[in-house]
Formats: sequence, C-alpha cells, structure tokens
Amino acid sequence: MRESSDRRESMGLRIVVVGIAGVGKSTVVSKSVEAIKGSSVAVFGTEMFEAAKKLKWVKHRDEMRKLPVENQKRLQRIAAQKISRSRGGVVFVDTHLFIRTPEGFWPGLPYSVIEALKPTHLVLIEADPEEILSRRKNDTTRYRDILTTEEVQTELTLARTFLSAASLVSGAPISFIHNREGKADEAARVILNMVANAAK
Ligand code: ATP
Ligand code: AMP
Ligand code: MG
Repeated sequence: MRESSDRRESMGLRIVVVGIAGVGKSTVVSKSVEAIKGSSVAVFGTEMFEAAKKLKWVKHRDEMRKLPVENQKRLQRIAAQKISRSRGGVVFVDTHLFIRTPEGFWPGLPYSVIEALKPTHLVLIEADPEEILSRRKNDTTRYRDILTTEEVQTELTLARTFLSAASLVSGAPISFIHNREGKADEAARVILNMVANAAK
C-alpha cells in the first residue's frame, strides 16, 4: 500500500469529474478527497466566480451561465489557467461538460481547456432524472434551473456525447458513476477503486 501511495504521489493523477447540475459532483468529490490522503480538489466554477466577482459581473455563481458566452469564455480561460498550475498526487477537478446558456449548450471542456487541465481520467456522475430534479429543488444554497424530467433526460444524454468527445481529444479513459439516492459514499468508493488501480 505504501508503494502504491508513493507511486500515486509521483504519477500526478488529474481526475476531471463532470455531470449535469445537481447530480452530486461536489458531494461525491468531497467524499473522495476525504478518503484519499494527499488529494485535493479544484472547483472550476469557484475559480470562475472569483474572477467574475472581481470584474463585478455577478453576485452569485449561478448568474455566470446567463452572461454572454464571450464573457463566460474569458472566465473559463482564467479558471483553466489557474487550475493548470495545481500540482499534487491526486487532483480532482469538479466541473461541467457543458453549460446551458441562453445562447445554447456551450462546452465546458473545449480543446483549450482540455489542453490546460491535462486530464488523466474523466468521470461522469449520473443519477435518475427525477432524483436530480428533487436535488435541484431541495438545495436552497443554489439557483439551479428547474426543468422537466424530459429536459433533464436530454441533458443526461448530451453529457455522454460531450464526454466521448472529451475522451477522444484528451486520450483519457472515461467512467460512468451512478450516484444513487442516499448513496454518495458508494459513488465515492468507485472513484477510490479507480485511483487504487491507477496506482498499482
Ligand atoms: P452543481 O453542478 O450545480 O455544482 P453538483 O453536481 O455539484 O451540482 P451537489 O451540490 O453535490 O451537486 O449536490 C446537489 C444536492 O444534492 C445537494 O443538496 C446534495 O447534498 C444532494 N446530493 C448529492 N448526492 C446525493 C445523493 N447521493 N443522495 C441524495 N442527495 C444527494
Ligand atoms: P458549479 O458550482 O460547479 O455549478 O460551477 C458554477 C458555475 O461555474 C456553473 O454553473 C458554470 O456557470 C460555471 N462553470 C463551471 N465549470 C465550467 C466550465 N468548465 N466551463 C464553463 N463554465 C463552467
Ligand atoms: Mg457542485
């Protein structure tokens, strides 16, 4: 085990965790970070939000996706550059494959961002559409889009398409993790297994 964790330290895993809004990415990632010694997380949206606040563009993180896409691109560039400098054994990046903007679905991981983040693994968190909707509704800390079940299903399908594209461009393997209701620990355990295999 000692040997595995030494290897993990030196190999520098960059695990990019994606999934649609409210599916449970941040919950699963924080459980994974708690369980993996020396691991850390970079929340892409937080880096964008810090930059957006400095520019006085928004007051809340959920306002960013309503900005003109050109402005969002500027924030995305800043966040990607900042995160590209993070070093460590296992770095998780908590982010989105695409953003539902008033101008259309816009990629969260275009080539320029993939190039900066250099993911070694891509993990898509999924859940049942009804559960995602109830998580969105019940989380009063955020202003998430409340859609129909069909619209959430469309987002889930779209996520798999964007994930394939990100894998082709980055060369990173992809995993699908189902975040079952009340079972975020189980989802985190799948990630721990993946990390253990990478460090063998
Ligand atoms: P966003 O993309 O908007 O940041 P997210 O994917 O990071 O969303 P979280 O913030 O982790 O989603 O979770 C959304 C809500 O769902 C939170 O209130 C969280 O506590 C809850 N949640 C996460 N996973 C589960 C689960 N397995 N069972 C029940 N509730 C969950
Ligand atoms: P989150 O807390 O993960 O929902 O992130 C907050 C917001 O940051 C999201 O709603 C998006 O507006 C933005 N965001 C996060 N990741 C990306 C990304 N890769 N590209 C563009 N915008 C992003
Ligand atoms: Mg989150």
